[in-house]
Amino acid sequence: MSLEVRLKSLIATDGPIPVSTWMTVCLHDPQEGYYATQPGLGRDFVTAPETSQVFGELIGLWAASVWQNMGRPDPFNLVELGPGRAALMQDALRAARAVPGFVAAARLTLVEASPALRKIQAERLADHTPNFAESLSDVPAGPAIFIANEFLDCLPARQFVKDRGEWRERVVGLGPDGEFTFGLAVEEAPQDALAASHGETVEVQPGLPVLIDRLAEREAPFAALFIDYGPADDAPGDTLRAYREGEQVSPLSAPGSCDLTVDVDFGRLARLARAAGLGVTGPVTQRAFLASLGIEARMQALIAANPDDAEAIHTACLKLVDPGEMGERFKVIALASSR
Ligand code: SAH
Repeated sequence: MSLEVRLKSLIATDGPIPVSTWMTVCLHDPQEGYYATQPGLGRDFVTAPETSQVFGELIGLWAASVWQNMGRPDPFNLVELGPGRAALMQDALRAARAVPGFVAAARLTLVEASPALRKIQAERLADHTPNFAESLSDVPAGPAIFIANEFLDCLPARQFVKDRGEWRERVVGLGPDGEFTFGLAVEEAPQDALAASHGETVEVQPGLPVLIDRLAEREAPFAALFIDYGPADDAPGDTLRAYREGEQVSPLSAPGSCDLTVDVDFGRLARLARAAGLGVTGPVTQRAFLASLGIEARMQALIAANPDDAEAIHTACLKLVDPGEMGERFKVIALASSR
């Protein structure tokens, strides 16, 4: 039975489902989920590490400098959440060779839900014999550095809408024509998220507090870097979007065939992390973050080594920092164990 038919029968039997359930099933259904079966990275959307090698290289240097500040633990866990096609980690490990001992001390763990992407990651990172983990809870104990680019935006979101003074949960049901349609259910929303919202619609990713809890229960030292799109302080309203072959399409169209994504509530992530006793740096814009790591010098060095590609290298790097492209929409937050 196709995913569409299964979803329709689920809703017809059990009633409308939260937007978060819709996202989970469409992204991760083992037979037809978008990431599980046909992740169209580079086709449906292009990420920063797929845009320029400089992105992963700078993150590798960030990780190496964090490792030095931790006192060079050997071994330590180098963990990436949602590594996609592994470009970031390949570039990071290559650049971090500049810091003696880092690569040899790193035990690589990849937290990846998609069997299709795990296969690509295992091939591309074969020299570093990665372990795979289902979730943060499965990451081995010990010092750890976590990296996640465009991972948080895939965590399913619940949406709440203020309807005549009452917050109600947006759900996916079936219309009179039997097709998927959005509706509202009566449902209590998490108070911490509602308190911070100014709008009439608020989105809440239940995975954020889970992630922070998993981090906070680890023993020090650890540090985690999250890069994604979303507002620095305001709570996101309705940001659920679907992409297919570079085009934005309806989130209810073609379940399993498009990437579904939401903005990340960085303000809430920072509040949750502080409340859990973690150190929080940022969020800052991707532009500011990459500038502080020396993107300009790194780009010039790459151009000097590859003069024939100067224009392409420059264009790609500009895309990462240009305010009209990824520079300001993307934010970076670093979390750390308190000492
Ligand atoms: N970081 C990569 C890929 C981003 S796409 C890049 O920047 O190019 C999102 C990645 O997160 C994919 O690898 C996807 O399979 C993975 N992913 C999404 N939800 C996940 C979950 N709940 N657990 C583990 N991996 C997940």
